[in-house]
Amino acid sequence: MSDTILAVDETALLDRVQAPEGQGRPILDAATRQVVGRAPEHTVHDLDDAVARARAAQPGWDALGHEERSALLLAVADRIEAEAEPLARLLSREQGKPLNGPNARFEVGACSAWLRATAATPLEPEVVVDDGEVHAELHYRALGVVGAIGPWNWPLMISIWQIAPALRMGNTVVVKPSEYTPLSVLALLSVMNEVLPPDVLLGVSGDREVGARLASHPDVDKVMFTGSTATGRRIIEASAGNLARLTLELGGNDAGIVLPGADPAAIAQDLFWGAFINTGQTCAALKRLYVHDSVYDEVVEALAGVAAQMPMGPGLDESNVLGPLQNKQQFDIVAGLVEDARSHGARIVTGGAPAEELGELFYPITLIADAADGQAVVDEEQFGPVLPVIRYTDVDEAIARANRLDHGLGASVWGDREEARRVAARIQAGTVWINSHGGVHPMIPFGGVKGSGYGLEFGVEGLKAVSAPQVING
Ligand code: NAD
Repeated sequence: MSDTILAVDETALLDRVQAPEGQGRPILDAATRQVVGRAPEHTVHDLDDAVARARAAQPGWDALGHEERSALLLAVADRIEAEAEPLARLLSREQGKPLNGPNARFEVGACSAWLRATAATPLEPEVVVDDGEVHAELHYRALGVVGAIGPWNWPLMISIWQIAPALRMGNTVVVKPSEYTPLSVLALLSVMNEVLPPDVLLGVSGDREVGARLASHPDVDKVMFTGSTATGRRIIEASAGNLARLTLELGGNDAGIVLPGADPAAIAQDLFWGAFINTGQTCAALKRLYVHDSVYDEVVEALAGVAAQMPMGPGLDESNVLGPLQNKQQFDIVAGLVEDARSHGARIVTGGAPAEELGELFYPITLIADAADGQAVVDEEQFGPVLPVIRYTDVDEAIARANRLDHGLGASVWGDREEARRVAARIQAGTVWINSHGGVHPMIPFGGVKGSGYGLEFGVEGLKAVSAPQVING
């Protein structure tokens, strides 16, 4: 009974945003491959129109002031909470992630949580010199129009990460969701726009060409981008034309180092979710695990034990906590990396072949033991349910291996806390977690180094990143 009611609600939400019958691009359910809905095919022309509207609305939004904007963001958070279940169901069908576990319901919950934290975070002017002769203050003003370009893995949460601070600081925002997951993002924006004034937040559902236009648009002041390193480079090139400021959250290939003395049974569950949250399709997931020889076999065994207890299947089935790959392209990358590892002598501990019985895009949790640096499954971002586990004997050597790639989003060290903190200081990554991996918090800055991009999101640093600093001197 309750299922029927929820299905109706989700359809109503979908109908608000999808293209009319007979138009649009079909979006398939990642698990069942049935049509979820029709994505509107907006053009570069539509994008130009959206930017013009956002530009026109910006001064009025800015003039509301922090207090009123924060109150509206809190009201938006409440609206999202009221629509949480249909949003989670639509997200689950379109993206593939299950309702339960750290997945669709969790993601929608994070949207409200981030909005509330952003609304509650003050960014006060700073007095930088006050010596009797000079009084200088640093203020933070709105930039203007912010372009938000997102990926398909955490489409709602990452959109909110981009939108919330930008709106809070008095900018208006044009969102270009991934072409793989436009419907859930457009539905989220539709819910938010029940509360927000017109044209403060606009969504344009289009392809890469539309994304490229948003990044290069002369009337866009800042681009928040989360996606691949390759696209990030193109956005940097585009910014040479419009001088847009950039926040780039790009790909990762996070290393974890398990120190000698770590307790395999105690860390196995957290290692598992560090690697396999969202079925491994997470930017800051653990993607290569270096384990000291003294605990290597036990860690592999403990991880395999946890993997065996985690049900995978269609997201709307309440019992599942792991889902399919979101798209065929990503599925092929994952399958290819596993085959390559096998051909190079790596030992497949669990998984290792498509889970065809579950559906076209399902690939089981795959632990690859005796993997080695230089193999593609280690050196390339898998972005799927695969974890290579590499043996080491010397901690200095493990640190060097963790640092050898051109990625630097996250990393983790497992074992004695003080020893782990010393190791963490030597790792080249924007975040190093100790005895956990991948947890984010709305007040803790998050961002990458090296090929993983630049700029910080969240907290006060995140607000500064969508602001124009202005000095008042005198
Ligand atoms: P992608 O780079 O292919 O696409 C991301 C977005 O960019 C899409 O909306 C796309 O339409 C748009 N786009 C494509 N070409 C463009 C261009 N020339 N100019 C402007 N926009 C353009 O990435 P993806 O496949 O959707 O996402 C997977 C990647 O994202 C992985 O590498 C992953 O690690 C990374 N990611 C990073 C983070 C992070 O916070 N660092 C988070 C999630 C995903």
